[in-house]
This record gives sequence, C-alpha cells and structure tokens, in this order.
Amino acid sequence: MANWLTPVHRELNRKLRDTLGAPTAGQFAKLGIDTVGDLVRHTPRRYISGTGMSDFASLRVGEEVAVVARVANTQVRAGGQLRVETTLTDGTGFLRATFFTTKKYLADHWQGLLTPGSRGIFVGKVGEFRSQPQLAHPDFVMIDTSGRITARKLDTARRHMERAVQRSTMVGLYPASAKLPTWTIAESISLLLPGVMELGDTLPDWVVEEAGVLPFPDALREVHEPVDREHARSGIERLRFDEAFALQLAMATRRAQREQELATPRERRPGGILDAFDARLPFELTAGQQQVGEQVFRELARPTPMHRLLQGDVGSGKTIVALRAMLCVVDAGGQAALLAPTEVLAQQHHATITRMLGDLGRAGQLDAAEEATSVALLTGGMPAGARRAVLDGVASGEVGLVVGTHALLSDPVAFTDLGLVVVDEQHRFGVEQRAALAAKAERQPHTLVMTATPIPRSVAMTVFGDLAVSELRERPAGRGSVTTVLVDTVTHPTWVERAWQRIREEAAAGRQAFVVAPAIQGRQVDGDLTSSDGATAVTELAPELRAGPLSGLRVGMLHGRLGSQERDSVMAAFVDGQLDVLVATTVIEVGVDVPNASVMVVMDADRFGISQLHQLRGRIGRGEHPGLCLLLSAAEPDSDAALRMQALVDSDDGFELAETDLQIRGEGDVLGAGQSGASSLKLLRAFTDRELIRTAKELAERVVRDPRAADDPLLADLRTQAELVAADEWLEKG
Ligand code: ADP
Ligand code: MG
Repeated sequence: MANWLTPVHRELNRKLRDTLGAPTAGQFAKLGIDTVGDLVRHTPRRYISGTGMSDFASLRVGEEVAVVARVANTQVRAGGQLRVETTLTDGTGFLRATFFTTKKYLADHWQGLLTPGSRGIFVGKVGEFRSQPQLAHPDFVMIDTSGRITARKLDTARRHMERAVQRSTMVGLYPASAKLPTWTIAESISLLLPGVMELGDTLPDWVVEEAGVLPFPDALREVHEPVDREHARSGIERLRFDEAFALQLAMATRRAQREQELATPRERRPGGILDAFDARLPFELTAGQQQVGEQVFRELARPTPMHRLLQGDVGSGKTIVALRAMLCVVDAGGQAALLAPTEVLAQQHHATITRMLGDLGRAGQLDAAEEATSVALLTGGMPAGARRAVLDGVASGEVGLVVGTHALLSDPVAFTDLGLVVVDEQHRFGVEQRAALAAKAERQPHTLVMTATPIPRSVAMTVFGDLAVSELRERPAGRGSVTTVLVDTVTHPTWVERAWQRIREEAAAGRQAFVVAPAIQGRQVDGDLTSSDGATAVTELAPELRAGPLSGLRVGMLHGRLGSQERDSVMAAFVDGQLDVLVATTVIEVGVDVPNASVMVVMDADRFGISQLHQLRGRIGRGEHPGLCLLLSAAEPDSDAALRMQALVDSDDGFELAETDLQIRGEGDVLGAGQSGASSLKLLRAFTDRELIRTAKELAERVVRDPRAADDPLLADLRTQAELVAADEWLEKG
C-alpha cells in the first residue's frame, strides 16, 4: 500500500469502511465511492434553493423529485407500525407524504418538525396512493422564510450537521441510490468534512495561488454547505482542477523522466537520401508538412527520444512526413521501422514507399541511385525463405527501412541500429507494444505515432498526454473532394434505388464503390454497436444486391467474422480492381487506400458515430475522382443521430467534426471506457473543461521544473495518487 507522506492525502485515501462501517461503505462502493476522498469529492448534481415554491402540477408518477412545499397538516396513525401522514401544498394543489416507523420517538420527532405552516424541501420518488400522487418516505429538510435550513429528517450526525445547517441556504442534491438517498450522503459527508478540512490543502500554496483556484478546504465548504450557486460553482471548479492537475502532473512527470532517457541523435545530413528524395517530389510540401517535418528533425537530432503523435485526416499527407523522418534517420546511419495494424496495410505502405522512393529504395540493385537504401516488408504470412532473407538484411544493416505488422514486435527481429519507429494508427497499438519494440534497441529509438482519427486537443492531452502532438490540418491540393448527402429513407424511399443506380454508373465508368452496413448477420453486431434490431446485415445485403439492384457487377463481402486470410484476399481483390463493389462492415475503416473508389453508401448511417463515419468517408475521394458519400437513414430529423449525420454533410474537417462530436455526445462517454486515463476522470469533461485542462497542463509543466517542487511532500503524494489510479486502470483492463 502507498506510503503517504502527508496527513491530508492519508486521510483522503482512507477507506470508507474504516470510517463509516462496512454496510454503509458497501452501499457507497456501488456508487463508485471507496475512500474519504471519493466521498468529499462527490459533488451535488444540482442545488435547489428553499426560497421558491414547487408546482405540483408538473409532478409525474415514477419521477425522482425535489419539491419545496408547505406543510398543510400532519397526523400520526397507529397500526401495525406508526404512520406519519403529512399533506403538503404548493399553494394550490396537495401532495401526500407518508413515513412509517416502529419507533414512537421518531414519529414524534417527525411530527414535531412537520408542523402546519412550516416549509421544507422533500426529496423522493413520486408514487401513487388511491390514484393520488404521494411521496413515500421522502427525505426532507425544514427551512425558514429566507430559505435557511433549520432541521433535517435524520439527525444522526446532529453535531456536525448543525454547523452545516447554520451556513447552508441551499440544498445540494447528490447523485444517489435507493439505499443511499441524497441526505444520507449529505449526512455522511458532513460527518467526515470537518476532519478533512482541518488537514489543509492537498496542493502547495504556491500552486494553488498560481492556479487561481479556491483553497481545498474552502472549496469543500462551498460545495457541500452551499450558500449560493456562484460559490458552489467555484468550489466544484477547484475539485475539477485537482483532477486535471493530478493527471497532467503525472504526464508532465513522465515527460520529464523521459528526458533522462537516451537516444542516438540523428542529425539531418545534407546531400543524402532525404535531400535526393525532396528534390524528386512531384509536388510542393504543404506548409503543415514542412513545419511538422522541421519539428521532427529537431527532435531526432536530440540525445533524448522523440515521442510524438501526428494527427491528421486521411489524405492529409502524414505518410510523407513519416517517410522523410525515416530517411533522415537513414542519412544519419540508422534504420527505421514502420508498423501497420494489418498485413494489407503493411503491404500498402511498403508498396507506396517503394514507389515514392523509386531508385532511392533499390540499394544493391544495378539501377540504384547513389544515395539509395533498401526497403523490406516483414509480415507474419511470409514464406520462411523470404523472411529469413529480410531478417538477415535487417541484422546486417543492409535494410534501411522495414515495414511490417506486429510480427516485428513478437519475433526476435534484430536491428543493427534502430533509430526510429513509426506507428501507423495508434488505436491498434497499445503503449506496452510500443515499449516492447523500444526494448529491442540499446538506446531508445525515437517514436512517431500517426493517427487518422483526429482527437480534440483536450482529449489528446488526457489520453495521449505523454506524447507531444502535431497536427496536419490542411489538405494537399489536387485531391478529389467528397460530397456527402443525407438520404432520408422514410421521406424519400425512391432515393435508395437512385443510390444503387449511382453505383452502377460509377462501375460503368470503371470506378469502384463501398457499401457499408452496421451488422454482420441479422440480429448480430460487428464492433461495438449495442443494439442491432433491424440493422442491415452484410451477409444478407450482399446476396440481395447481387441478385437485384447490382446484378452483373462483381460484388465482394468483407466482415470481421471472416478469417484473416480470407479478409486479406477479398481486400486485395478490391484493391486490384477485381471487384466493383465491396459490401462491408466497418472493418474497412482503417487506412485502406483505393484511389479508384468513388462512391460510398452507408446503410443505417444513424448507427455510426461521427468519427466513424468520417473515417469511412475517407476511403473515397482519394484519387482524382470526386467522391460521393450517401448516408442512408430512417432516423428522426431532430434526433442526435440526425445532428451527427448533418455534421458530416456540413464539414469535411476531422478536427472540427471531433469537436462537434464531443459536444453532441454530452461528454460523458467521450473518453470511452477502453481509453486509458478515462476512469479517473469523474468531474472533468473534455469539452467544457478544455480550458481548464490546458491551464492544468501548462501549470504542471512549470511545476515539475520548479525547484520548490523537488521535495514537496504534497506533490509527491499527488504523484503516488496518479500511479495508484494508473495501476487500478491497468488492473481493470486486465
Ligand atoms: P495520409 O497518410 O495522411 O492519409 P498520404 O500521405 O497517404 O495521407 O497522402 C495522401 C495522398 O496525397 C498521397 O497520394 C500523397 O502522395 C499525396 N500528397 C501528400 N502530400 C502532398 C502534397 N503536399 N501535395 C500534393 N499531394 C500530396
Ligand atoms: Mg496514409
């Protein structure tokens, strides 16, 4: 267990079972609250003020409500147990509230609080009794005319409560459960709060000051003993800041540690293969490609390893940037490896690179250029002889560039001098895998990770916070553009026919088409869609199209349940032009380059996310032909799904779309359960808190370099905390 240096962090990490007892702690555990720190950082979902009055007319049976109301009368009835019945009024209507108990003193206590004419806030679920709405066993507090709380239904923690009661003029409603109603949570918090507040801040004063946030004890008071919304908000902001800061401090620490790692500097050498390559480029590099290129060259020349993420839409020209980096390393006497997530993509990269290099990639052959190197492909499916030859070439240093799949990681590939690893499509590779490859080199190789799924900066800073980020935002000139059309299959059923006709026209002109559907088989799903009821299935659609609207065309089928060899051969057939149409699930999403494909029809487009659709759409319009993307859907015009699809019609900028996505999704699941760093983010929202995340990052960067941080016990505890969270997540991913 962690060795806490400071009392405040020790207290915050104390298990609830040691303070509230096992049964209550068990209930809290179900809300994801395990420690004292979790509990005091559990913030109200909303605050209500006791000065207004609720309108009973809006109450719905089955709803959880909080009403501000006046007591009309209260009676205690004896029976099997005592029943306290109160009639509440909002001035016009009436609402019955009922409490049961076997304890006479409790019944008396409640009756004493619920005197006619007094006002209170009642929280509970609206039920029905003799077809009248009623609250059974609501939680309540009584309030005076100025909205100040004067008493609570439960007074188990009376001493602590009184302090809170004196201050609060509003009521915070906590995310609660049936067993743990909001005021039991409030009671537990007010029980623990004084002890925590006494221990002072979790951060050094100078950090709090620089961050411009409330001191921790003050923030807790504003959040849990609210006097007004404005103060409560700044309290919550401090707690959010803590979350962002802890994470960014951990990331900044990791980056600082990495500066201690050694890499061989790879200085750019004039007159070598890179210059020869640049001289032959048939086009001008975009400003972005230039700029990122320079940034990369600077980092390659340093004696510490580069760890950089390169983001850019499909077709933004990342491959050139990566290739120039690899050539720079070759010029400096090293080797470079490019890792792709699948064999098909590895083959494609190899073909592209070989083509782009021309005689610069044919070292050892008669027609090689003077500066030439040799490019090799290494995949799992290679014949043993060819494989051996490649391995020998890599080991002898003859091969300068190796393109491959995971095989590069799992097999004992010995490089002479691996200087750079480029990883294409980060999402398929974990951090551990990058580490595995790095371990093969005596010194750390430089790393460049490329991803075509643009992530908003705020998310990148959290999920990939240990990487520096570059973006390619502009599109190289001369690429066909893609028009996206939303086809409402309910209001325009005939347009579906028109879609198939468009595919026939394109095929007649020698071009190819994708048809994408969400499901593999009826009632089963590919990927992470949760419901497939009625979703179009590839295995049903393909034969239908072959027999009907696309008869006579060569229609292939691709989905995740095919074996990897079959998948590869279908894909290869499509790339080769032996198929006109590919009916597929989202398995075509990643990196496939078929410049001849000009149309994409997406079935049930409402079932896909924005970035997924954008990725899919990136498969067309890659050559000189303009592309057409038809999104077929029966979604309601005002639904979130319709908003998502409209976003695609309106924009072709992956970064802009990623931001829109973040907004529409309401942020809760932005980081997705599978993304590392996600589960520790409770209050933080990547979109609304993006400024905060940025500030936290900048501050963390300064803090790790500040001499005052060197042996600050609070910061040391914060790091330990971040490590525990990371370990936790690691275990969860298991
Ligand atoms: P990405 O890897 O980001 O999807 P690529 O590097 O594969 O993009 O580039 C897409 C296409 O655009 C390729 O055919 C490439 O040759 C071409 N290209 C790249 N950079 C430029 C440029 N600056 N000007 C014109 N065409 C470019
Ligand atoms: Mg590419």
